[in-house]
Amino acid sequence: MSATTPQAVTDRLGRPVRDLRISVMDTCNYRCPYCMPAEKFDDNYQFLRPHQRLSFDEIVAIAEAFAYHGVNKLRLTGGEPLLRKNLPQLVQRLNAIDGIEDIALTTNGLLLSRQLPDLVAAGLKRVTISLDSLDAEQYRRLSGNRGDLHTVLRAIDTAVASPLQSVKVNCVIQRGVNEQQVLPILERFRHTPVVVRFIEFMDVGNKNDWHREQVITAAEILEVIQAHWPLLPLKPNYRGEVASRYAYADGGGEIGFITSISQPFCGDCSRARLSADGKVYTCLFSSRGHDLRPLLRAGADAKGSHSTGADSLKEPRPLSDSTVAALRQAVADIWARRTDRYSEKRSELRQSRRNKTSNKIEMYVIGG
Ligand code: SAM
Ligand code: SF4
Ligand code: SF4
Repeated sequence: MSATTPQAVTDRLGRPVRDLRISVMDTCNYRCPYCMPAEKFDDNYQFLRPHQRLSFDEIVAIAEAFAYHGVNKLRLTGGEPLLRKNLPQLVQRLNAIDGIEDIALTTNGLLLSRQLPDLVAAGLKRVTISLDSLDAEQYRRLSGNRGDLHTVLRAIDTAVASPLQSVKVNCVIQRGVNEQQVLPILERFRHTPVVVRFIEFMDVGNKNDWHREQVITAAEILEVIQAHWPLLPLKPNYRGEVASRYAYADGGGEIGFITSISQPFCGDCSRARLSADGKVYTCLFSSRGHDLRPLLRAGADAKGSHSTGADSLKEPRPLSDSTVAALRQAVADIWARRTDRYSEKRSELRQSRRNKTSNKIEMYVIGG
């Protein structure tokens, strides 16, 4: 694909698109109750069939179209992204896209240690590992009896020792579940390069039985922390940064909060999301995605590639110029129509959607 001058696009609220989160895999080796509760995602659950997932060629083509319109950061997620075969090959190709400055990965960490060297060599810059408990028994329960705390802690150590630019830990604290874990988790990572970020428990999807009372807000967690370790607020690194950042006053490092419930940040939201089957979602709480696969596969058939859904290690064949142009136009149109601000209108929207079923996309489809 030829190098071209990017054409910035903004949505109806004047927000640019800067960040694309790519779900490379819809399945997961965990069953966290707040995301894929085991009783609802059982052995009979119908995940995507391999041919329904985007191939690497297709993912790269879509990422290029987004980069053309201003995206400079990519995050690979899932489901569990490390279940996708040959992921370093995808990272390498995404890293070669004009305008892409940063590639990150969000993972539960179980499969990370072995794959990390190849991912780093391919150009992965940052990793976020999810960790909700340091109690081995509780950790296992919170993974739907599939995870292993010590393997994940080893993976975090491996990531810290690697040349990655940043290692973060995502932690979801729920009332009545793991609030006693705030201080132990911070204690473990204070005075290390690992930045812990507390994500408020969100009403993503329709299957996690979310209730407002289960949410422990950032303010509540801050109070607990400040009683132990005074914190100083930090300025955002850039406009649209998701986390509110704090530093330990004693120099113990940095932590962050993602306050989707208590302090929504839709005003600066510049994130788009791509599902493993090729739909673009303009909000974490969208009800509907925009399917780019028909466009891609029509173009590919004309050219004789991009149609298998397999992760071919062969040299990719370029899309036709008309498909590239159509894909860029589709991305621009999707973004230009965007008006999402779910978190800011949560109460109102929850009320109006109350009687409908399956009206929000599930977290495992678009990856947070
Ligand atoms: N499987 C990978 C992992 O767990 O890191 C990547 C996908 S997972 C959906 C991405 C992030 O979403 C994780 O950090 C997870 O804790 C978070 N998450 C999932 N469901 C959530 C919910 N209902 N509220 C807040 N965070 C959630
Ligand atoms: Fe848990 Fe991530 Fe898997 Fe969801 S996608 S069940 S958060 S490990
Ligand atoms: Fe962005 Fe939607 Fe979250 Fe608001 S609710 S910050 S628009 S993803």
